[in-house]
Amino acid sequence: MLRKVVFLDRDGTINKDSPNYIKNWEEFKFLPRSLNAIKQLTLNGFTTIVITNQSAVARMLISLQELEQIHTMMRKMIQSNGGKIKDVFYCPHMPDDDCDCRKPQPGLIHQAQKKYHIDLSAAIMVGDSDRDIVCARNAGCGGAVMVKTGNSRKAQRRLAEKGSAPDFVAVDLYDASNWIINTHA
Ligand SMILES: [Mg+2]
Repeated sequence: MLRKVVFLDRDGTINKDSPNYIKNWEEFKFLPRSLNAIKQLTLNGFTTIVITNQSAVARMLISLQELEQIHTMMRKMIQSNGGKIKDVFYCPHMPDDDCDCRKPQPGLIHQAQKKYHIDLSAAIMVGDSDRDIVCARNAGCGGAVMVKTGNSRKAQRRLAEKGSAPDFVAVDLYDASNWIINTHA
């Protein structure tokens, strides 16, 4: 059973999000301090797994091969900074495809749980969208943290309308990693 797992959203959490989607490595820009956040989580014994919606694939803006290429480069950069991403799970579908893997559906987290026998009650999801927080709740994660590096204002309002809220709102992924390390060590 794998404990101390942190699920990370990608766009708006690790790297700068774009309304035009991230279509190649040139467009992928790490947010300030996100590399050090992942390093800090890794050094403190947390396993980090990326959980990301990538409808750009279904929209034919990027091929699966190109998406995998971005993830290979991302993991290489993270590793050369002392961090480690154990795996990347992505949903390639459109919002109206009715799949079970596009967040807020819990499918991706359940795929990860099956592959690595994760204790979800001890796992935490970090993301910038209300979809990330709802996904964490739907999947049965022990915690959900929102970062303000994406669309957090809108996301918090949408959550409040559903009577939901994150366990912690962090300035960025580094702030989130501090909170996780201090409360889940
Ligand atoms: Mg995001």
